[in-house]
Amino acid sequence: TSPFAAYEMAPLDPIIGLNEEFQRDDFPQKVIVGVGAYRDDAGKPYVLPCVREAEQRLVEQKLDMEYSGIAGDQKFVDLSLKFGYGEDSSALKEGRIQGVQALSGTGGLRVFGELIRRHGQKHIYVPNPTWGNHIPIFQNSGLEVRKYRYYDASNSSLDFDGMIKDIQDIPAGSCVLLHACAHNPTGMDPTLEQWKQLSELFKKKQLFPFFDAAYQGFASGDAILDAASLRMFVDDGHLLGTIQSFSKNFGLYGHRVGTLSVVGSNADEAARVVSQMKMVIRPMYSNPPRHGARIVSTILDDPKLKSDFYEQCKGMANRINTMRTKLRDELEAVGSTRNWDHIVKQIGMFAYSGLNKEQVMEMRAKHHLYCTADGRISMAGVTTNNVSYIANAMHDVSK
Ligand code: PLP
Repeated sequence: TSPFAAYEMAPLDPIIGLNEEFQRDDFPQKVIVGVGAYRDDAGKPYVLPCVREAEQRLVEQKLDMEYSGIAGDQKFVDLSLKFGYGEDSSALKEGRIQGVQALSGTGGLRVFGELIRRHGQKHIYVPNPTWGNHIPIFQNSGLEVRKYRYYDASNSSLDFDGMIKDIQDIPAGSCVLLHACAHNPTGMDPTLEQWKQLSELFKKKQLFPFFDAAYQGFASGDAILDAASLRMFVDDGHLLGTIQSFSKNFGLYGHRVGTLSVVGSNADEAARVVSQMKMVIRPMYSNPPRHGARIVSTILDDPKLKSDFYEQCKGMANRINTMRTKLRDELEAVGSTRNWDHIVKQIGMFAYSGLNKEQVMEMRAKHHLYCTADGRISMAGVTTNNVSYIANAMHDVSK
């Protein structure tokens, strides 16, 4: 008998599996606004011109394709940490911030989960709701995943009071995940004043902050402004962990480019943590890929390419924001009497529409419009051509 005879067909992934369902649908006007991947206004994948230029330069250099070290490309890590924590970060200058190249955000999260479990953490706290994959990533790392309140669905807003109350009850020493900006899926972030309150509360309660920075540049269009929460926590003296992903802001999705870093109390401590990250990485995947990291470091190391990047990233954020307004206006134009202002108020890649699972399934069956079951719409997939079709479908199932 086959050694695989007892294997059952696994369910489709709730986010990525949508693509498969969409492929099978042969309705000509079908629309997918599922996975968080940027599209241009013609609905096509977009490669940033600065990325094309960096690639060209790399090809011309005829670089070797030797293994990277376990921790990846050190120049890439150094430049990435400056990009995240700030060129002038004193903690960075003191050598207290160190890290490794990671298999993008997901890989960084997985290594971090494993690392803290090996060093005594039993659980991790995540916002409710959070990016769907956070939960299995940390469970697979052997951690129990616990949730703190984050979103007030009845008012389509951040539930800041609930968040504070739940965080107050978290035992000292626990690790708490925060989305650095552009919270996925709700698109609602704390204000700077609220971040300050959170920073103080984390201090008072001796909590261990862990930042997921998957959208730096996508919230405001300005990658520096979007790092404000992380930089505030570091300035306030927190010792913490961070993952950075370059999937969305640099559009390098398939190249798997990111970092995992920590802010330690001194350089020696940070180096000891990195040495333990390498102990996790070596038997897991040995070392990370080279090409994407070279693209990012070529851009961040060159003043012209770097300023092109800032412009082009802003361009993506601006197109999304234009579509937010258009979608809200179209919903009003087709006669919806519901309040859709939250679509405009939310930031980042997603609109957390407020549509429930039944309505989402009805949109799929009747209108061939695919978004995730929680009603999350990837605004990056909304274009001048499909916005009224989407508005019609949303109105039809919600009137
Ligand atoms: N974290 C959050 C909040 C995300 O939304 C995503 C992607 O959707 C990731 C991490 C990981 O993305 P990647 O592994 O492509 O960097």
